[in-house]
Amino acid sequence: MTLNPQFTAVLVDYDEALFTPPAWIAPLLAEQGIAWEAHLCNSDAEVVAAARAADVVLVQSVRRITGEMIAQLARCRCIARLSVGYDSTDIAAATARGIPVCNAPGYCTDDVAEHAWAFLLDGARHIGAQDRALREGRWDRLAAQPGKLLRGSTLGLIAFGRIGRAAAEKARGFGMTVLAYDPYVSASVMAPYSAHKVELDELLTRADFISLHPPLTPETFHMLGRREFALMRDGVVIANTSRGPVIEEAALIEALESGKVGAVGLDVMEEEPLPADSPLHRFPNVTLTPHTGASAVSAETVYRMGCRIVTEVHAGRRPPNMVNPEVV
Ligand code: NAD
Repeated sequence: MTLNPQFTAVLVDYDEALFTPPAWIAPLLAEQGIAWEAHLCNSDAEVVAAARAADVVLVQSVRRITGEMIAQLARCRCIARLSVGYDSTDIAAATARGIPVCNAPGYCTDDVAEHAWAFLLDGARHIGAQDRALREGRWDRLAAQPGKLLRGSTLGLIAFGRIGRAAAEKARGFGMTVLAYDPYVSASVMAPYSAHKVELDELLTRADFISLHPPLTPETFHMLGRREFALMRDGVVIANTSRGPVIEEAALIEALESGKVGAVGLDVMEEEPLPADSPLHRFPNVTLTPHTGASAVSAETVYRMGCRIVTEVHAGRRPPNMVNPEVV
């Protein structure tokens, strides 16, 4: 027997390349009297049109959900972001309307940590730069310079949450010293990962390799700018798999031009998709991926987490992974 045949869960956007919703969702939710719709919306207006009468609105992409859009969601009892980061949703607006916002913490921790390591290794071995040279017809063995060894070098992790910790675990095998900057994580939590708690400036001055793992917040916006690049070691290798605006891109480009930054791997940029005329394309020592840190192997996991949020809201219970718990 259905409790509420009108109850509808609407996915307003998803990553069509890697995270198409699995076919099992509709029958699974239907068993509980929940209708399921999946849309690929292309604008704020399309999102509002698709979600206006939804009880749960789900988003599996970086598509923004603004306060203005939230005000038009007539029945919304929960917004579920099927991602770890939720910076593209106006949390304050949702909270003001009493709408819980949930995310999907941990669904792709190893994917992203491994992606960060792929960038760090690429920065040490210049695999991407050599491959690009070969494809352009150049047997350019100098593209492997300057060489860098991981063993004996220092890795600086900015943020020590799930992904930062997974990245730290992998550093052990490479024989690196690990420094971590995270104002919300204590030295005793870092110690089992052989990571040493330091302030940001100390990390920047000592690290040969830097990997960024914070959420995008007002505090982390442009946390690496001109001042911070100036503090870094010459030839530093940087990996950013967190959110683009954590690095001030104009300052990064200057640091690439001056040679301060030896190599950088970016999975995220200030503007996505990256504009075709971005200066980042000019540098052989920049490796770019189109926000693919979370890989398709984790699609089933994230949609299971989404279904759990939907069924808990439908049952009148507190949904898991609320990022604004103050609304309940
Ligand atoms: P998490 O919540 O487990 O950890 C985030 C950590 O950041 C916490 O330890 C927190 O204390 C720390 N932090 C907060 N503010 C900080 C600051 N000002 N300075 C330093 N540290 C700060 O999250 P996670 O699972 O580790 O994911 C981290 C981020 O990675 C997400 O917020 C998301 O933006 C990004 N991400 C990207 C992809 C991708 O596809 N590239 C996929 C998943 C997550």
